[in-house]
Amino acid sequence: MALGGAFLAIAGLSYGVYRLYEENKTLEGDMTSLQGTLEKTQKNLEEVTRNGASLLDALSAEQTKAGFLQEQATTFAQAVQRLSGTVTNLEKLTKTDPELLIKYSKVYFLNEHYIPASITLIPNAFVFQGKEEYFNTKALLHLNELLLASQVAGTELKIISGYRSFERQQDLKSQYKVVYGTGANKFSAEQGYSEHQLGTAVDFTTPLLGARYEKIDTSTQYFWLQENAYKYGFVLSYPKGNTYYMYEPWHWRFVGLELATKLHNEKKNFYDLDQREINDYLVKIFD
Ligand SMILES: [Zn+2]
Repeated sequence: MALGGAFLAIAGLSYGVYRLYEENKTLEGDMTSLQGTLEKTQKNLEEVTRNGASLLDALSAEQTKAGFLQEQATTFAQAVQRLSGTVTNLEKLTKTDPELLIKYSKVYFLNEHYIPASITLIPNAFVFQGKEEYFNTKALLHLNELLLASQVAGTELKIISGYRSFERQQDLKSQYKVVYGTGANKFSAEQGYSEHQLGTAVDFTTPLLGARYEKIDTSTQYFWLQENAYKYGFVLSYPKGNTYYMYEPWHWRFVGLELATKLHNEKKNFYDLDQREINDYLVKIFD
């Protein structure tokens, strides 16, 4: 009986140990599979991270490329703009009379057959004794503005002479001979050559001086011209002491706002500049 009890006890114990062993084995298996899952997850994570990094690299490369393309496009657009600006200037230049900014002197004459492309009557009120005087059509606006401004300033100017053809200048020259004797060649341009033939030169006078315009440099109008004419694109062609021609305080020439301003600011005379330097202003003469 005691033997039977002992056997039962041993059998029960063995079974317990066996169960324990089995459970342990299951646990170990679970642990291993968990470990496996963990490793797999780790690997997946690493791969995702790697993929993410290479995606970021690719994105940044694309962004760089886009930036570069953008830069190229901008450069190209700027080049096109510059080119079209050059074309516009060239087109403008071909339509601008090159004679308008040439220095005419006793050495270099304006061609006697030269005729301006277009001249327009200067408003009657601005002309001394209301005579018919003409000026270059494209520059007339600037002349009118100058004359109006001089009136507003209380230093009214009048035009005594505007455009003159070669023939008219020759006639005038013979008239000057009567009035001024042999000094006519000094007074009027040689042989009828004159800046007046361009249509962009005028002789100013004042209501008080009238025909005695050669005395204009004693008037307040003359000082107004010296301070303000450049704002309308006009310069004195033959200042005192110039080496080209006799002093003509009444004779002013339109050279465009930009060149006139440069001459005023640098206290230089048109005839003292190099012709090549003057040529650069031709394209902007009517601006
Ligand atoms: Zn003149």
